Amino acid sequence: MKPLKLAIQKSGRLSDDSLALLRACGIRFNNGMGKLRTEALNFPLELFFLRDDDIPEYVTDGIADLGIVGENVLYEKAQPLPIAAKLGFGKCRLSLAVPKNSGYRQLSDLNGQRIATSYPRLLRSYLDKQSLRADIHEISGSVEIAPSIGLADAICDLVSSGSTLFTNGLREVETVLQSEAVLVQAQSLSAEKMALLNRLLFRIQAVQKAQQNKYILLNAPNDKLDKIVSLLPGIKSPTLLPLAIEGWSSLHSVIEENQFWEVIEQLKAAGAEGILVLPIEKMIF
Ligand code: ATP
Ligand code: ZN
Repeated sequence: MKPLKLAIQKSGRLSDDSLALLRACGIRFNNGMGKLRTEALNFPLELFFLRDDDIPEYVTDGIADLGIVGENVLYEKAQPLPIAAKLGFGKCRLSLAVPKNSGYRQLSDLNGQRIATSYPRLLRSYLDKQSLRADIHEISGSVEIAPSIGLADAICDLVSSGSTLFTNGLREVETVLQSEAVLVQAQSLSAEKMALLNRLLFRIQAVQKAQQNKYILLNAPNDKLDKIVSLLPGIKSPTLLPLAIEGWSSLHSVIEENQFWEVIEQLKAAGAEGILVLPIEKMIF
């Protein structure tokens, strides 16, 4: 069977998370670091280690079937590739920033200004949509120092915490794009490769679901159970087990990470005790 060829970033912000995702999907590799490619030991998958900027092109050209890349890189390139899954890591935003002491108040203040960026296409299309005219200066790195050396009045660059902007005396003023890592696929894959991709996607979804949920166990007096059960929808419905003490039960269920604290507070208020919360490794429906 021909393996699926997946291109991931060789070394950078997406590398560790890309490999960790594959490992969480149960896919094992010999230590491939330092190599250009490596084959998985227990899944028909071959990994290519590349610069992130080259990944969309490799997938478009059919050298790789799949790639993991930031949306920022994908949309900046001309090639439109189908997104098979959003991966939830590598989150950042492409933002406009101006010197802290600039008189910037609104987007139209950028009219006629010079903006330095490594993302000229994304910036151009954003400015066009807002009917703004600005000079875009494309530079390939260290965009954040452009204003202080007099090269530009503003910048458009990737931000996650904002600390790099702060250190360089810049203030973030507008978001051009929200970005995260995505799995892209070639336009046409053989039926055999599509079947492999679907197996991989099934595993990715199980891992993502698990990361978004927690397993919860708690004890409650039987007369409070109705209320508590209504707070815990679970997958089908919660599991209910009698405790050794008369009149008490143990309840097991699953709750979503993003409503976690609210549910816990409500459970406590409703009479739940001894609440345990555990991570889930995989969730399959
Ligand atoms: P390469 O050598 O592969 O070209 P790079 O220097 O272009 O690497 P990295 O800095 O490793 O790229 O970033 C890879 C991706 O990580 C970015 O394209 C973006 O999608 C994502 N990312 C997340 N947070 C940030 C951030 N704060 N700054 C830059 N990129 C970020
Ligand atoms: Zn890059």
